[in-house]
Amino acid sequence: MWNVSGGRSSSNGTAMFVAIAVASLASSALAVECPRADALGTSRVLAVDPSAYPRVGVKSFPQTLPLEDHEVVLTFDDGPQPANDRKVLAALSAECVRATFFMVGRPALEHPELVRKIADLGHTIGHHTWTHANLKDLPPDKAEAEIDKGISAIEKVLHGKASATPSTPFFRFPYFDSTPQLLDNLEKRGIAVFGADFWASDWDKMTPDQQLKLLIRRLEAARKGIILLHDTKDQTAAMLPPFLRYLREHHYRVVHLVPAGPRTAAAGRGLDYGPLRRHSWRRT
Ligand SMILES: [Zn+2]
Repeated sequence: MWNVSGGRSSSNGTAMFVAIAVASLASSALAVECPRADALGTSRVLAVDPSAYPRVGVKSFPQTLPLEDHEVVLTFDDGPQPANDRKVLAALSAECVRATFFMVGRPALEHPELVRKIADLGHTIGHHTWTHANLKDLPPDKAEAEIDKGISAIEKVLHGKASATPSTPFFRFPYFDSTPQLLDNLEKRGIAVFGADFWASDWDKMTPDQQLKLLIRRLEAARKGIILLHDTKDQTAAMLPPFLRYLREHHYRVVHLVPAGPRTAAAGRGLDYGPLRRHSWRRT
């Protein structure tokens, strides 16, 4: 397990969730235990407050999340997509790792059960527009509508009510193409905009092995950060199991993002992996 001070959770043989509220930065922790002692695991949970972190990811912005050396955040864009998500979710579950999925609204409406399954597994669901349009190319009102419609679709699927106010205020621009006006509006709405710190370039066709090597090279250069992947890509789904093993074997730690605020305490729902036994997550 993890916590901010590096201690271990107490355990009574059941899943334990401990939320530690830390002001403003809102670094909070949810203890998670895993049935596999040799799994990578989720080392800690970081509650992201958009007012403190309105834009993160050094590929696009000057600021990124407060990650320590060897801490990574896994993010997957463009889903849901049933065939690949089955593999991606299986790989994440096998290692007891939680990720953030930036979903597109239209496929989310087409596959609502898959969206709910991903949420029920404890992953975080962020927003990635309605149709994956390039918002920089659209008139401002149409771009805003793309954002709102995407959020509404996912809110409808997850919470039964369409709303342009996201329960999880995390958004990523398709192609990372934003405009100053759209960025300002999202900040005013309290929605954090996610870039990435590095990526796998999985939009380029390559073998899973080539992609693994490329991603590892970038990981070793950056040593930490928000990683952008696409759950819609076959090569990424195929690469994920060996990549997670690499993280485990090289002492990387996976940080799970949740929104700061009242929802953080409830974010433990869905994190139960069934019968659990005590397991130390802290590896250095
Ligand atoms: Zn995308």
